[in-house]
Amino acid sequence: MSQSGAVDGTGYDLVLRGQRVMTTAGEVAREVGVTGGRIVAIEPLGNGLSGATVVELADDEVLLPGLVDTHVHVNEPGRTDWEGFASATRAAAAGGVTTIIDMPLNSIPPTCDVAALEAKQDSARDQAFVDVGFWGGAIPGNSAHLRPLHDRGVFGFKCFLLHSGVDEFPHLDVEEMEADMAILAEFDSIMIVHAEDSRAIDRAPSPQGDKYGRFLASRPRGAENVAVAEVIERARWTGVRAHVLHLSSSDALPMIRSAKRDGVRLTVETCPHYLTLTAEEVPDGATAYKCCPPIREAANRELLWEGLLDGTIDCVVSDHSPSTLDLKDLENGDFGVAWGGVSSLQLGLSLVWTEARRRGIPLSQVVEWMAVRPAELIRLTSKGKLALGYDADLSVFAPDQSYVVDPAKLRHKNPITPYAQKPLSGVVRRTFLRGAEIDGRTPTGRLIGRG
Ligand SMILES: [Zn+2]
Repeated sequence: MSQSGAVDGTGYDLVLRGQRVMTTAGEVAREVGVTGGRIVAIEPLGNGLSGATVVELADDEVLLPGLVDTHVHVNEPGRTDWEGFASATRAAAAGGVTTIIDMPLNSIPPTCDVAALEAKQDSARDQAFVDVGFWGGAIPGNSAHLRPLHDRGVFGFKCFLLHSGVDEFPHLDVEEMEADMAILAEFDSIMIVHAEDSRAIDRAPSPQGDKYGRFLASRPRGAENVAVAEVIERARWTGVRAHVLHLSSSDALPMIRSAKRDGVRLTVETCPHYLTLTAEEVPDGATAYKCCPPIREAANRELLWEGLLDGTIDCVVSDHSPSTLDLKDLENGDFGVAWGGVSSLQLGLSLVWTEARRRGIPLSQVVEWMAVRPAELIRLTSKGKLALGYDADLSVFAPDQSYVVDPAKLRHKNPITPYAQKPLSGVVRRTFLRGAEIDGRTPTGRLIGRG
């Protein structure tokens, strides 16, 4: 890759040229012209578009649309020692992610009314290196705040069906969830659900100790299956759009297929850790692997890949959910007390690509799962594709370059990772936001909202 200024100053703000440009028609040799932060020309390579800045891709590089990660816990304000907008968005940019949607909880206050949304926006505004949008929260007693939050641009609402992990974001029971779904249906918003059932988890064995098997038994598939069934039926009854977050139990795939076939307005995501890690490989006391729902057996992972390939699962997003080192309880390795969450904002593309490639799945499919479909989930019509009129959010990706994960090179605030020393394929070399390269020093991210 090389870069040179234009001779005459006319033409586009930025031109990118390469043999491998991931357009909506697949990977083709193209020149891409960017003006005013948007993609305004896509022409055959060789047409010689001129630009104030010209980027020539190397032979081993693919130009990708920036990924859209709709499941990120930034935790600021309130738990800024866990993560923050500057560190999270630097990690995103380093991983080729150019838009994140922040989850409503783990920050204080949680995003459950307009004042809290404004507090978040004030925190994010001057320190975001990628574009940032927000989910609202649905908790007991805040039904009257849903419409005002919607009007202020949140992309939808998250609820839990069991304890969320933080006391200031209580969970809904299924009747409360249905009541809020009915409200959201009135203005065609979306309910996104952490689908594990509180009653089922209460009856499962307790998770204490350093044995992963015991932790796994404490978060049984049945707890997910029951909750997913509730989401499906309540979505069916209310007509709301509903989305199952971080699906881990492959047992739920047949009923999701069935619901989709029936026309229930349902979408489903899974995460890199469920697609790349297995319960069998988790060492005793390795709480970096703890997340909820949990990483399950290898056979389960295979079925999740099948579900992705047949479209039962719509998209792959990170569920980046960091905490401080001490809350991960790395020293004692007790799965009962450690914070549950895997932080992979920076690694998601490499993780999913490494595994996809091993399975003979093309890069274009990975882009579909991690950029196109998440943008569609939140109806973001300016992002997620390398296409005319879209924001020039782009990354230069070297799919065949391999590396070994070095936690010291992760940009998120507390670089705890189950992927340390894991060999991966695919390096993000440069990332552009609305046509300007993200340099990690000057925050150029914007706050985005619905519509
Ligand atoms: Zn989450």
